[in-house]
Amino acid sequence: MRNTEHCSGGIAWPARDLYLADDGECPACRRTFDGVEPTTALVCCATAICRTCLQDCLRRAQSDSRFTCPLCREDFVNDPVVCRERLEAHVEADSPFAIEMLACMHQQGRLGLAKDSREAARLFRRAAKLGKPRANVRLGLLKLEGCRGVRRDPAGALAAFLNAAKQGDAYGQYLAGRLLLDDGDARRAIALWEAAADQGLGAAAAALGAIHDRGEGVPRNLATAAIWYSEAADGGDEIAAERLEELRAETRDIFKGMRFV
Ligand SMILES: [Zn+2]
Ligand SMILES: [Zn+2]
Repeated sequence: MRNTEHCSGGIAWPARDLYLADDGECPACRRTFDGVEPTTALVCCATAICRTCLQDCLRRAQSDSRFTCPLCREDFVNDPVVCRERLEAHVEADSPFAIEMLACMHQQGRLGLAKDSREAARLFRRAAKLGKPRANVRLGLLKLEGCRGVRRDPAGALAAFLNAAKQGDAYGQYLAGRLLLDDGDARRAIALWEAAADQGLGAAAAALGAIHDRGEGVPRNLATAAIWYSEAADGGDEIAAERLEELRAETRDIFKGMRFV
């Protein structure tokens, strides 16, 4: 994962094209989702599944036309129209996961659907009401960017991110923090980023490094910055790793200088 920027300018969305990152565990391999790692979905049973397991299903379906979904035992289909029909059936039955997924399909114009942001926003709201905080994050992003059918509304975006944040969504915490910092509220931004970083969101750790590094709304603190950069770098953030190296080199120079005083 490479973040293009951390603390200012537009929103760095480390997984903008993520399918559906989810909490809980992959029902196929029992591996725990961390709520950050992008997951993907089985449409037949409207279930989040890890990428490895989905790839495995796709491979097996390709070589065996009678392959059935390991979870629900329905025929495994990869046909967009059949997928959409199945998804819509789950939506009828009020599955929050399916509603959020169908909203994504409307937003991206997939499964044979025309792009329709207004319908996507409506479905995100419905999924959020049914307890999917990530749907609020997606709704917030729609409002933040504004697009045909959805008015640009930064205040509404912040409200949506904060709703998700309240329910413990790491991306909600990260994005709400970004907007709050733009409004000059560094303290709240930091609190939200710390919560997101604790959940393993590297972008939040990198943002924390940057805010302490620059002293943006807080006293500059290079030691704290280095701790957060280091955490982000461990998660694979190259920009954070570069800046961490620079900080370490600067600190070495300072100590070197002191010996000659
Ligand atoms: Zn799995
Ligand atoms: Zn299934």
